[in-house]
Amino acid sequence: MIRSVLVRTTLAAALAGALPTLVAAQGPTLGKAVQEYVTVTGPVVAITNVLVIDGTGAAAKPGQTVLIQDGRIAAVGPAKTVKMPTDATIIDGTGKTLIPGIVGMHDHMYYSAAGGYDAQMSYTGPRLYLGAGVTTIRTTGSQSPYGDINLKHQIDAGRSPGPRIFVTTPYLTGPGGGGTMAVADSPEQARRFVDYWAEEGATWIKFYTNISRAAMAAAIDEGHKKGMRATGHICSVTFREAVDIDIDDLAHGAMTATDFIATKELDKCPPNSLVQLDKSIDPTGEIATSLIRHMIANNVSMTTTPAVYELFYQNRAVKDERSLSLMAPAVREAYMADRNQIDTTANWPLTPGGFERALAFDKAFFDAGGVLGSGVDPTGNGGALPGLGDQRGYEILIEGHFTPEQAVQVISLNGAKILGVDTDFGSVEAGKVADLVLIDGDLRTAPTMIQHVETVFKDGVGYDSQKMILATKGRVGID
Ligand SMILES: [Zn+2]
Repeated sequence: MIRSVLVRTTLAAALAGALPTLVAAQGPTLGKAVQEYVTVTGPVVAITNVLVIDGTGAAAKPGQTVLIQDGRIAAVGPAKTVKMPTDATIIDGTGKTLIPGIVGMHDHMYYSAAGGYDAQMSYTGPRLYLGAGVTTIRTTGSQSPYGDINLKHQIDAGRSPGPRIFVTTPYLTGPGGGGTMAVADSPEQARRFVDYWAEEGATWIKFYTNISRAAMAAAIDEGHKKGMRATGHICSVTFREAVDIDIDDLAHGAMTATDFIATKELDKCPPNSLVQLDKSIDPTGEIATSLIRHMIANNVSMTTTPAVYELFYQNRAVKDERSLSLMAPAVREAYMADRNQIDTTANWPLTPGGFERALAFDKAFFDAGGVLGSGVDPTGNGGALPGLGDQRGYEILIEGHFTPEQAVQVISLNGAKILGVDTDFGSVEAGKVADLVLIDGDLRTAPTMIQHVETVFKDGVGYDSQKMILATKGRVGID
């Protein structure tokens, strides 16, 4: 009993001061649970002779010196242009790559897997995200909203390691939905839902597959009045309808764009929509090009999640020992059984071509000037883990013909833009908060190089990536 009461008082106090903490130059005082992963502390740190892929999409710059001072990037440039303070801690970046901290745009703090495994990740989630280089996340839907909110405050207060968290409301869906989701039977109910969670500290609204246009419109109107933004894993409402209802972001990309299903009925989610879309997505056709134009004209962003979707396609690289070893044994067993069933089923309804076409829609949106972000969505049958799945998302973007510079932009600066914090976060540029990822190798040589994270900087403090990730060994799917 005591704990929950304690939590309540702290929560009220913390909510009052949350946002300023977010953009302050210096992070919080770090507690023991955080200190154990710290390998680099300032106040002055210089990473020398490093290849910088800065997140803006600009060409990679070799031989850079990046100076961190008081939690912010003080200078970036060729060695001779950066004045080196005498008290700087020097890190030799020769042969290494520095990218911005990853901004995970579909990064739940709960995990689900085959076999019905489902867990709030108060321990493994924050360590895997930050350990893999994800320094900021949007939870994009929650099963345990106070679990997310309390963890956010633990992290902001320096009592738990982890990324900065942009809290999203629980899911808001419509009749036919349920489980841990709120079901809006009317626009009034949708408004009440938004009002409550706005007060509780949520800054984003998350819609799900059965929401009606009327309830979505009411929720968005209410949320915008309170400075909130809205995204959704939608189906009953098409992308074009959602844009016209003033949504801010669309999750998952073409895999949920029922605009491509000719037989779709108003306010109804077509049956087996993923299977239907596998056949009907045409990334270069009139529906796609006019929809992309319409989204961009209305400043609607999109956040792709290729790492969770590939788990449902045959013969994909989704059995990496790194991820499997972190799963709880029973979860690993259930996941492998599910994967083997997918890989061995004749006439499996989801095709390599369908996956490719969805990826091509992401690229077409990006090439047309759309703001494309990405995230892992650590759900489905459980093969996409927090952080590691964000890295896998990068690898798949390269498969989708994004250049390393473009893919880094998608996983970092674009996410910061969508969250409205790109003044302070998202790129390796002077003046920004020092959220950085040091990779042991040249990221341009192979997509999988993204897995070789050595040190993750958040607020200019450097964390041991491997130590943080290995701390979750055998616990994923438990806590
Ligand atoms: Zn999701």
